[in-house]
Amino acid sequence: MFNLILFGPPGSGKGTQSEKLIAKYHLKHLSTGDILRSEIAKKSKLGLEAKKLMDKGELVPDEVVIGMINDALENNKSAKGFLFDGFPRTEVQAAELDKLLAGKKSSIALVLAMNVSEKELIKRLLKRGEASGRSDDANEEVIKARIGEYHKKTQSVLKHYQKEKKVAEIEGEGSIDEIFQRLAKAISKVYKEK
Ligand code: ADP
Repeated sequence: MFNLILFGPPGSGKGTQSEKLIAKYHLKHLSTGDILRSEIAKKSKLGLEAKKLMDKGELVPDEVVIGMINDALENNKSAKGFLFDGFPRTEVQAAELDKLLAGKKSSIALVLAMNVSEKELIKRLLKRGEASGRSDDANEEVIKARIGEYHKKTQSVLKHYQKEKKVAEIEGEGSIDEIFQRLAKAISKVYKEK
C-alpha cells in the first residue's frame, strides 16, 4: 500500500488537491470532514453531535474520528493506498493511525504539509462559505476558531512525522496546477509510478 497524508490548516487547499492526487495515484480518498458532513446530511446521532462542535470551529472527539477511519480501512481492503485528508488532526490520532496501518503491515509513506498565510486562508474560507453554504465557513469568528484549533492541537502532529523524516513542506499559494506540480514532485522522490 502507498499511503499519503495531505496536511495543512483549514483553507489550505487539501480538498482541491486531494481530487487531483487520488486520480493520478489511484488512491482511496479518506476525508474525515467529508465523512462527518455525510453523517450530518443523514441526520445520524453521530452527525448531529459532531455538527454542534463543527459549527463552533472545535474538533470532534478523537475516538469518533478514529472509529470512522477504522471502519473506512476495513471497508476498503482492496485499496492500493489511501490519501488521508483532515486526519490525523491530533497526536493521539496520529499514534492511532500508525497502529491501524501497522496492523495491515503498512505505514505512512509521506506527509505533504501545505503552507498558506493566515490572511490568504481567511480570504479563501470566506469565499468558499459564500459559494458552498458550509456553515463553518460563513462566519469569520468560526474560521478563526478553526485556525486556532489548528495551531493548538494539529500543527504538532507534524513533529510526529518529522521525527521519521516523512514530511515534505509544500508552498500552498499559486495556481491549483502549480501547487499540484509541487506535490507530484515531492511524491516522485518516494514513489515510482509503474
Ligand atoms: P477544514 O480543513 O476546512 O477545516 P474539514 O472538512 O477537514 O475542513 O473539517 C471540518 C470540521 O470537521 C473541523 O473543523 C472539525 O470540527 C471536524 N473534523 C474533521 N476532521 C477531524 C479530525 N480528524 N478530528 C477532529 N475533528 C475533525
